[in-house]
Amino acid sequence: MRFADIGLSDELLKAVTEAGYDEPTPIQAAAIPQVQMMRDIIAIAQTGTGKTASFVLPMIDVLANGRARARMPRSLILEPTRELAAQVAENFEKYGKYHKLSMALLIGGVQMGDQVKALEKGVDVLIATPGRLMDLFERGKILLTGCEMLVIDEADRMLDMGFIPDIEHICTKLPTTRQTLLFSATMPPPIKKLADKFLTNPKYIEV
Ligand code: AMP
Repeated sequence: MRFADIGLSDELLKAVTEAGYDEPTPIQAAAIPQVQMMRDIIAIAQTGTGKTASFVLPMIDVLANGRARARMPRSLILEPTRELAAQVAENFEKYGKYHKLSMALLIGGVQMGDQVKALEKGVDVLIATPGRLMDLFERGKILLTGCEMLVIDEADRMLDMGFIPDIEHICTKLPTTRQTLLFSATMPPPIKKLADKFLTNPKYIEV
């Protein structure tokens, strides 16, 4: 299979080609069509499999086909660490360079001022660690009621780091009619429970 066969927009294909990729990795080939069909997914995939593009690419597609400019964020990507969140933001910029989408990177360890300014201007995508997202939410700086797509990445690491209660709390602030994508290298019982609670009829993908 080639990227050209997946049905991505011309702009995305161009960005993917420029990134040097021709063929999707197995997780991309399995996940992207499911996301395009609006399915919830549980994907068992390790880092290094190309899993980031398997949610960033179809997310850009979905966002690009929606309203031109949102006042409220329409997608939320949760990452366990600042480093991972920053990497996903880089991927988003790389693949989204031909689309006019805006994002905010909401991570701890940096001042909130610039993050709040970005949120006030209005962004399409939030890429966040749970702690900083909760902090901003509790200060009334974020509205999550427009988030139609949620990605919970590295769910088992989230568990190890004690983020599951935060994630549960965040899930209750999103609209119930949304698409949820959960990525994890392993599926321990608390993650299975989280998926049962917050995903709807998910497609299970293991690569
Ligand atoms: P990830 O698992 O998302 O951290 O990606 C691991 C590495 O694979 C990154 O360096 C990506 O740039 C690279 N990558 C992502 N998609 C592809 C692809 N379709 N073909 C080759 N490499 C890729």
